[in-house]
Amino acid sequence: MSKLVVVGTVAFDAIETPFGKTDKILGGAATFIGLSASHFNTEVGLVSVVGGDFPQEYLEMLENRGMNTDGIEVVKDGKTFYWSGRYHNDMNTRDTLATELNVLADFNPVVPDNFKDAEVVMLGNLHPAVQLGVIEQTPAAKLIILDTMNFWMDSALDLLHQVIAKVDVITINDEEARQLSGEYSLVNAARKIQEMGPKYVVIKKGEHGALLFHEENIFFAPALPLEEVFDPTGAGDTFAGGFAGFLSASGDYSFENMKRAIIYGSNFASFCVEKFGTERMQSITKDEINTRLEQFKALTKFELN
Ligand code: AMP
Repeated sequence: MSKLVVVGTVAFDAIETPFGKTDKILGGAATFIGLSASHFNTEVGLVSVVGGDFPQEYLEMLENRGMNTDGIEVVKDGKTFYWSGRYHNDMNTRDTLATELNVLADFNPVVPDNFKDAEVVMLGNLHPAVQLGVIEQTPAAKLIILDTMNFWMDSALDLLHQVIAKVDVITINDEEARQLSGEYSLVNAARKIQEMGPKYVVIKKGEHGALLFHEENIFFAPALPLEEVFDPTGAGDTFAGGFAGFLSASGDYSFENMKRAIIYGSNFASFCVEKFGTERMQSITKDEINTRLEQFKALTKFELN
């Protein structure tokens, strides 16, 4: 079976939306990526770090869903990464209230031996130095996908540029694409980012879908219009997990197949936002996934005459 290495935060999140508020719940980029990537026929190996305060039952939940957690280091006397955010009424924008790196501050990732030959590597959101460390340990990678955010552009831009130069695909939201490139037009932003290294640029636009750029080609996937959006946290990571999981399982990394991967990613993201944190991602069924894929098809299919 193909293998997918996922690195990213495994975290505690505290979230406020116009619909409610949570105490510390399970979150983290790698958690959301893994929860969607594990629906595909590929072995998913998580690489991350947590503190002694991280409940064993969360690790067991990830294992039970088919993820390999050997690469999650537990620092017994440390505290788990903590992030807190508050969404505005539009549910598309948010303020970060707290980012406590804790055990992430001096984390040296170790990719387990049986995942060093993975063909696909998903660099989820965390410190670019850690992302670089994972690239060095996965020499067989044929497709490296990077997700990042403004936090790292503000605090570690030089290192982030080193990572960007080494990856094949970058997924980034619209505001971050503008910040990274200095361009307002997303077409120009994507072109500038392609010049930095990645041949493929995916720009996520929240409830307005996602754009895929490759050379002069552009593909657009809408987000599914939903009756209820409860908590958008992790939607971007869930999207990236579906994208990476699909590509890893199929072994076809062409532009045409990436279009399909974007639809799979968007499909998973549409579930993620329906409940707080990882709750919805822990309960989706195959039937629900397939029904929504058909809705995606119907949403965009049209005849010209
Ligand atoms: P998203 O909504 O897709 O941007 O992902 C939100 C998730 O990313 C939350 O579960 C957080 O724990 C995690 N997160 C927030 N800030 C950071 C950061 N600076 N680095 C890594 N992960 C983060």
